Amino acid sequence: MIMCKEATRLMSLRIEQPLTFQQKTQLAIHLSMCGACRRCDKQFRFLHDSFNRHPSQLGDTNKK
Ligand SMILES: [Zn+2]
Repeated sequence: MIMCKEATRLMSLRIEQPLTFQQKTQLAIHLSMCGACRRCDKQFRFLHDSFNRHPSQLGDTNKK
């Protein structure tokens, strides 16, 4: 079972490269149990979509 920190890392990693089957499974299990990370996942997906549509804005939204 992975922790939120690892789940978040996988979500951001997923934007740059495809996850392995094991990573995807770990992330899916964590998301099914963790509401906070589900919200985070939605934001990552939204950002990912934005990157695809507006590649020139990449980097500006990477705040932590
Ligand atoms: Zn979590």
